[in-house]
Amino acid sequence: MWYVIRSVTVRSLRKEVDSKLLDTTPKHTIWSPTVPIKTNVFIWRARLDRLPTRANLNRRGVNLQDDKCVLCNLVEESAQHLLVECSTAKELIASISLWAASIKFPAFINSIEDLICQQVHPTKSKEREMWDTISRAMLWTIWSFRNTLLFEGKVKTNMMLLREVKELAYNWLKSRSVFCKHIKWSDWNCNPL
Ligand SMILES: [Zn+2]
Repeated sequence: MWYVIRSVTVRSLRKEVDSKLLDTTPKHTIWSPTVPIKTNVFIWRARLDRLPTRANLNRRGVNLQDDKCVLCNLVEESAQHLLVECSTAKELIASISLWAASIKFPAFINSIEDLICQQVHPTKSKEREMWDTISRAMLWTIWSFRNTLLFEGKVKTNMMLLREVKELAYNWLKSRSVFCKHIKWSDWNCNPL
């Protein structure tokens, strides 16, 4: 009953966003019922390149002294770079791929769209739910790390980030999943399936 109520709420909100805010864009929302609303909104903004990255702030006329990626300090910080192309993101994706090989999580991602769009997802419902949740946890973890590094100076290793992805996805699935409610941390920590 709880799930039905929450599901209707998410669906209603998604329709509201689509109808009010997305009239001018071909990209509709792809919202996952297993992740928090704030994360779905974050993913939606990332796909539309509307995150407050340094590249976007520059475009909006914010006078930044440094437009380089907060994580690598090598190139201009766009959402595509930060979440997919940066060495930190690549290392994390590769680590997730090793951990989640059983659900065919890829070792390389070309774009945020590749990660979110459905054609590359496994077709089985349980695996797909895991795939959707882990991919969104990965993007959220990178963005959160970027912000804590920028504003609090906290450095995290690839292993710490992988641990965060595992914990986030586990907690989201435990509380919201249809197919993965009964997963155990000891199993999940080794292999999602
Ligand atoms: Zn970078």
